Amino acid sequence: MSFTREVKAELVAVPLDKECCARAELAALTRGASILTVSGGRGFSLRYRTENPAVLRRILLLLRKTGAVQDKTRMLVEKRFGVRRLYLLALSLEDSRRVLAEQGMLVADEAGEEVFRPPSRQVTRRACCRRAYVRGAFLASGFIAAPRRRYHAEWVLPDEAAARHLQRVMSHLGLAGKITSRRGQGILYLKDGDEISALLKLMEAARAVLSFENDRAEKSLKADAARAFNCDQGNLGRQLAAAGKQTVAIERLSLARGLSALPGELEELARLRLARPEASLEELGQMLSPPLGKSGVQHRMRRLMKLAEEVQGDPA
Ligand SMILES: [Zn+2]
Repeated sequence: MSFTREVKAELVAVPLDKECCARAELAALTRGASILTVSGGRGFSLRYRTENPAVLRRILLLLRKTGAVQDKTRMLVEKRFGVRRLYLLALSLEDSRRVLAEQGMLVADEAGEEVFRPPSRQVTRRACCRRAYVRGAFLASGFIAAPRRRYHAEWVLPDEAAARHLQRVMSHLGLAGKITSRRGQGILYLKDGDEISALLKLMEAARAVLSFENDRAEKSLKADAARAFNCDQGNLGRQLAAAGKQTVAIERLSLARGLSALPGELEELARLRLARPEASLEELGQMLSPPLGKSGVQHRMRRLMKLAEEVQGDPA
């Protein structure tokens, strides 16, 4: 099951305690998952459509809870592209009008014509209802990528105005969604891991929050390990490069003057370096007699390198 499906499966089971919130969740579903057709001059006909039967059951439950439907609803299933199915729930003309009017989505304009509007501010006035609205909007058109891949949540809305409306509702809950458009549709999206986690929390998807945080922790652990590994590789690379230069310099000294011409403590280090090209200066220090700390070895190595620079000018 995709992460989106998992989240939705959890959201459709969130208890409907307050009627105000049920109304808000339904308003978001009406805004995001319905089609409105004018029925031969007799009025609007409202149809909810979704590919997810659990979402359709949730819509039915919300319609009952808010008492908005009185007539029989009709369920239709459309087959699309072979395996895909589209579930449709059609309301009677009277119920359609009632649902839209209750949500402030059907308003008369100046000419007295009824026009379809976003849900009224009243619907999302309370914080509890805003959360329910965001949940409904997610059920209608939301998508969340599996957190182990990337952090991305988005809502595909019928147009940019609908996306702006949802963006406003979410901003009151501390989420700063961004908007883009795709083939005339309004896309609202979040790309921040903290915000997506907060989104799941406010929609009351407790299990999804846990699995999201789990994946996130694992991901950051892996990133830390990779960073540490790369860092080790980097250090090792630098160390080997430095050792290579030292070896070349010492060989030059050896050819020009012979290592036995060096002061005893430098000769010892020079011979050790040639014998152990992979060892760090610290390790070389341990092999000296008596052993010497890292900074002491560094000091001696600098003297050796300086001598090697001097012999560069010597006649070969
Ligand atoms: Zn409420």
